[in-house]
Amino acid sequence: MQHLTDDDIKQFDAQLRGQREAVLAAIRQRLHQGGDPDQLALANHFADVREQAEADLLGDTDIGQLQLELADLEALDYALGRIAGDAYGGCAGCGEPIALPRLRAQPAARMCLACQEALEKQGPPVPH
Ligand SMILES: [Zn+2]
Repeated sequence: MQHLTDDDIKQFDAQLRGQREAVLAAIRQRLHQGGDPDQLALANHFADVREQAEADLLGDTDIGQLQLELADLEALDYALGRIAGDAYGGCAGCGEPIALPRLRAQPAARMCLACQEALEKQGPPVPH
């Protein structure tokens, strides 16, 4: 299912790592310190509760922004994991290759456009 050349992969890898660094830097700045692992664990805790109502009840735009950044980080980690596992570029929904222009626009995309649109129609994904 590999539709990407080594050069494509290399380019996406570099792009994803760059984005990951930027997101991590933003998260660290938001947490007002320099990448303490305990603080990142706390951040991950927020990621865990981000679907829950209590996270909304916090009503804190900083937390909302943090959650978005953590979601980005998760997507980037996922994509980098796919590169490491030699599975990058495959749709997590149908398994078909994700179109190259879509990956160029959004290197951390997990799904092809059709699956993404289907998902958005049916609401948030069900964990499994
Ligand atoms: Zn798909």
